[in-house]
Amino acid sequence: MLLYGFVYFSYTFYWLRSGMHDALEFTPSVEIKQDVNTDLRFPEGIKYNQPAVSNSRPDVTTVTPWLAPIMWEGTFDLSVIDAIYLHKNITVATTVFALGKYVRFLKDFLESAEQHFMVGYRVHYYLFTDRPDEVPVVTLGPGRQLTVIKTPSSDRWQEITLRRMEMIEKLIEERLVTEADYIFSLDVDTKFCGHWGSETLADIIAVLHPGYFGTPQREFPYERRPESVAFIPPEEGDYYYGGAVIGGRIGYVHKLTKTCHAQLDVDRANQIEVAWQEESHLNKYFLYNKPSKVLSPEYLWQDFKEKTSNMKVIRFSQVIKNYAEVRPNP
Ligand code: UDP
Repeated sequence: MLLYGFVYFSYTFYWLRSGMHDALEFTPSVEIKQDVNTDLRFPEGIKYNQPAVSNSRPDVTTVTPWLAPIMWEGTFDLSVIDAIYLHKNITVATTVFALGKYVRFLKDFLESAEQHFMVGYRVHYYLFTDRPDEVPVVTLGPGRQLTVIKTPSSDRWQEITLRRMEMIEKLIEERLVTEADYIFSLDVDTKFCGHWGSETLADIIAVLHPGYFGTPQREFPYERRPESVAFIPPEEGDYYYGGAVIGGRIGYVHKLTKTCHAQLDVDRANQIEVAWQEESHLNKYFLYNKPSKVLSPEYLWQDFKEKTSNMKVIRFSQVIKNYAEVRPNP
């Protein structure tokens, strides 16, 4: 019976590349540290408000049918969650891709992240870019660092977004298993405008896409062609999740990226490019691997959208961009 303590899982990774690449065995037997059942350990002597006995947000759904919390302002007490996580001395890896003209979004992204994102925690940004010389100098707070990873350019924006899963998978295998505890992968054409903290930590999180919250499932823009591995029939699906945010514990996100990468490769071999690139595969993944925590659209808004009454706060938002101007191809 394991109540508290650390358990070490030994993973053997096989990095499969198909299509134009040769099959390649990726062998390191890495140890992923998992602190089983210690998540909710609480230090003594910390004062906080008595939990409410009624639903503090009757205007929105705050729990999924599989009992994962949906994070909305007013549903959590940050002082309780910080008391759990601050003493754990965790490192949060944050991957961001800025290829081609998307480097222009980096300054606002990083500056706003330094103000709002995981403040008080150790954060390590891993920035994938083909333009390292154009990475802006942004002063980072204590315990925060940035690593630039030179990445090949592409003349197709679809290729850039599709390859993110593969690159995150590889980064986890090569570095993050020893360098971090949690990871977030975030779109760069965004900015933080409100608190984003330890309430977002979980085994595996997904974010509700702001465009489809409350939309009937048959209208979700899932991949609808049965030839694709990402296919979801009209009568299935829970929510439509945004691809701009993924996150969770390193081992869980590794499984997600590895699965999506393998499925993208199958589609590529069959010459199918799915409706919404890696977002389509992500939605398929979450249909059968339910997220353990769901972030409300507070954690992924869109600047062009008018704020709805259930949005008490906007924490992270996609900025308005001129697609024809920033993307390498239309
Ligand atoms: N991206 C990039 N360069 C490109 C296209 C995309 O770096 O030329 C990365 C960037 O991180 C961006 C993400 O891929 O935030 C998703 O692409 P985009 O924002 O164009 O997709 P959308 O969310 O608008 O469909």
